[in-house]
Amino acid sequence: MIPTPDHTTRAPNGPRHKPDARNRPIGHVPRSLPATGATDLDYCSEMGTPNESAPAWPICPKRGHVTMRNKLGELTTGRCLSISCYACIWARALRTGAAIGLAKPQWFITLTQVGSGWSQIRARMKHLNKTLNRARVSMESAWHVEANPQATGHHVHMWAHGRGVTADSLSAAAASADMGHVVHVEHVRQRQHDAEVRTLAYGMKACQPPASDLTALWPEAREYLDVNGGHLVHTSRGFWRDGTGQLLSGVREATTLARAAQGRGEWVLHDAA
Ligand SMILES: [Zn+2]
Repeated sequence: MIPTPDHTTRAPNGPRHKPDARNRPIGHVPRSLPATGATDLDYCSEMGTPNESAPAWPICPKRGHVTMRNKLGELTTGRCLSISCYACIWARALRTGAAIGLAKPQWFITLTQVGSGWSQIRARMKHLNKTLNRARVSMESAWHVEANPQATGHHVHMWAHGRGVTADSLSAAAASADMGHVVHVEHVRQRQHDAEVRTLAYGMKACQPPASDLTALWPEAREYLDVNGGHLVHTSRGFWRDGTGQLLSGVREATTLARAAQGRGEWVLHDAA
């Protein structure tokens, strides 16, 4: 596995680039969210990355008229954060990716030929997990279905903790669930001496807006929600945890902690006293 460095926000040998929003003239509202920009991703796969030089994000049609600021004085437009909003689905995906990064998963797994639609894929994933349990493989996972318009079928990207997780055990369980027997298992290397919480959004890359002048969800994002039953991520019990491994109540708590650890969050209305 070759983690892709965060090269778009870090000079080759220099410090992390932080745009100094404090010097911006009052009233200047950047047309993207500086705190969770698409250039801030940390992809954990050698299978290619989405377009990191994507144009600015669309303005949210519901909340884009308000101006928000954070503790650093950075300004941005408001967001409704609904996954059905063409301007906000990627912001939600990045928050979810940060929550996944906080959990420090050990494994990045790709399952192939998982099925043709959400109900079939969901049933097969249940079967796969039961088969793994019977084989005494314990695994807590967060996973996404990725649509694949080519003849190779949909696949599942999965971040997991577990014991007994091997390509053989997963391949056998996948075949038992009528999925493809081709399974990729990569060990996720944690950065030593680095408390940084990564944003593991690779499996949701279809949710990255392809342009800034959108007026509706684009086909790939619509298909993503369709094959995922209207969700960004699916998790098994025990996946969400904080940086020390303590179990958390769910994605909401995990997202809040992840954003705090990343030095984000706490956006307030700029006009509020
Ligand atoms: Zn929105």
